[in-house]
Amino acid sequence: MSFVSKVVIVTGASSGIGAATAILFSKEKANVTLVGRNETKLAKVAALCITKHLIVKADISKEDEVRNIVKRTLEEFGKIDVLVNNAGIMIGGTIKAGDILSAYDSVMATNVRAAVHLTCLCADHLIASKGTVINVSSAAGIVVQSTGDMLSYSMSKAALNIFSQGAALELSKHGVRVNTVSPGPVATDIIMNMAGSDTTITWKDFEGITLLNRVSEPEEIAELIAYLASDKARGITGSNFVCDNGCILKR
Ligand code: NAD
Repeated sequence: MSFVSKVVIVTGASSGIGAATAILFSKEKANVTLVGRNETKLAKVAALCITKHLIVKADISKEDEVRNIVKRTLEEFGKIDVLVNNAGIMIGGTIKAGDILSAYDSVMATNVRAAVHLTCLCADHLIASKGTVINVSSAAGIVVQSTGDMLSYSMSKAALNIFSQGAALELSKHGVRVNTVSPGPVATDIIMNMAGSDTTITWKDFEGITLLNRVSEPEEIAELIAYLASDKARGITGSNFVCDNGCILKR
């Protein structure tokens, strides 16, 4: 895979899958816009990028900050070839306690609305470059998570899946491909934050919910994202790639 002179935007690039993705695209010669809320963390990831890169500090749940990502990328690089909507949050909440509603609002704003907004803002530029979008969803968008209190997260990822299909449908006539990746457990912050203050939860618990008895490394997901963004995947659009170590099948 080579992304020489391509311009890639990665949201949530300060950690986990987003960081691995930004570093991989850079290794494959792309220029990268790294988007996140924490400049110190972004700078550490940027230090591992060997091509031209741009750090944009943005909270993607805020519209003006989303606009700034596109503006700054175009000022710096003049075009956009790949958009990776990766940033995501997981907030617990149940129907019985009623706190699912506030969780829903926050989770939808980051996991869905921001991805939709960024795709809209990038659309003309992706059409001009015959570019591509990869949305990072989750196995939880296909089957509700068994913990039970992550329903708003599952709902957001299911919405993202349908958005990806619709975007693929609409943008295919302009030569833009849109695909989704749906990981199971990956060794990143988001999953351990799920455990909260419960110190009895370990990686073994997450391994145990998969058929292959393993948790993915962020780099494995980054490789799939890069493949889908590459010309090797030129025939693939509107697809959802489940990469979950057999997590869904085990349920
Ligand atoms: P992570 O917590 O390391 O990464 C999420 C990133 O999104 C963080 O850098 C975070 O700061 C950023 N982010 C969150 N809200 C933001 C906002 N409002 N503005 C800007 N940035 C924001 O965890 P990760 O596993 O790398 O998560 C990446 C994606 O993968 C997420 O969409 C997540 O839902 C998805 N995913 C993760 C797993 C897993 O087990 N780790 C499984 C399935 C899907």
